Amino acid sequence: MEKQEFRQLPQREQLVKELTPQVKEDLKNYFLDRDYGVIAVTREDALRAFVVKTTSLCEIARLRHKLSPMATAVLGRALTGAILLTSLLKHGTDQRVLLRIEGDGPVGLIVAEANARGEVRGFVQNPDVPLFVKEENGRKKFDIAKAVGSGTITVIKDLGFGTPYESSVPIVSGEIAQDIAYYLLKSEQIPSAVAIGVLVGEYGKVEAAGGFLAQPLPGATEDAINRLEENVRELPPVSTLIKEGKRPEEIAELIFKGFTTELLALKELSFKCRCSKEVAKGGLVAMPIEELRQLKEEGGVSIRCNFCGEEYFFTPDEIEEVIREKEKGDN
Ligand SMILES: [Zn+2]
Repeated sequence: MEKQEFRQLPQREQLVKELTPQVKEDLKNYFLDRDYGVIAVTREDALRAFVVKTTSLCEIARLRHKLSPMATAVLGRALTGAILLTSLLKHGTDQRVLLRIEGDGPVGLIVAEANARGEVRGFVQNPDVPLFVKEENGRKKFDIAKAVGSGTITVIKDLGFGTPYESSVPIVSGEIAQDIAYYLLKSEQIPSAVAIGVLVGEYGKVEAAGGFLAQPLPGATEDAINRLEENVRELPPVSTLIKEGKRPEEIAELIFKGFTTELLALKELSFKCRCSKEVAKGGLVAMPIEELRQLKEEGGVSIRCNFCGEEYFFTPDEIEEVIREKEKGDN
């Protein structure tokens, strides 16, 4: 059932557009430096890719959570990964997907949630996690796997009807992109190539971030699949491409080298949280009355949203109101 739903392209995606120079120019003028994603297919065969640029939303996450460079690289990957996982949802709806990575590494719990409208939010347990560096082909790289550790990765899909669908797999690499590919293969039976990159600058600022999920659709030929694998293998890191100024549709063309790339859908992406003072009040309501009286005496309390770092202040009068509501409820 799950698989079927994913493989049937939503209605809106059936508006195919050839990626002409004019279309590319229009995209550039429309999105400018904002984050967005493109869903692309090949004309000649059944291949699909979702390519995203997430530089700004990763930087917003860093500022909101006061993340260390290591935590920025980790959460940026998770946020981008959650966005890629919205491929499992119906485009443009309120359906959402939550990615939870529970490893035994120093960054602790990692949570990222994205909806089918392109809004994403998330946090890591330890925003101050120190930097781990490894050398690969003579180049220094952030050691994401060391910060994450080993454990499980869980994906929860809320499709808007009934109990959310939840599935876990073990962390196989800790680099997040490979773990998402493993999840898609094991839990969704979707073979795919997943790449995610977050380039953190000298002062911790996110310089470039993005990723892609490429997959053969039912009916893809063996030739096309091999070609796709080869193209993906030859591709420079996705953060390098974005740093060089490549746009998602241009990266899609690289992924589909040898084919004609066609555009199915566009998605504006942003860091956005669904929290509100009303939601934060729920945290107060859950506290024992004794504790609330104490907070009232202390002159009020600030409740912080885990997902976005927003603080909601409650005055002594507002706390008193919660106490009264609770007392009423207790009788
Ligand atoms: Zn929030």
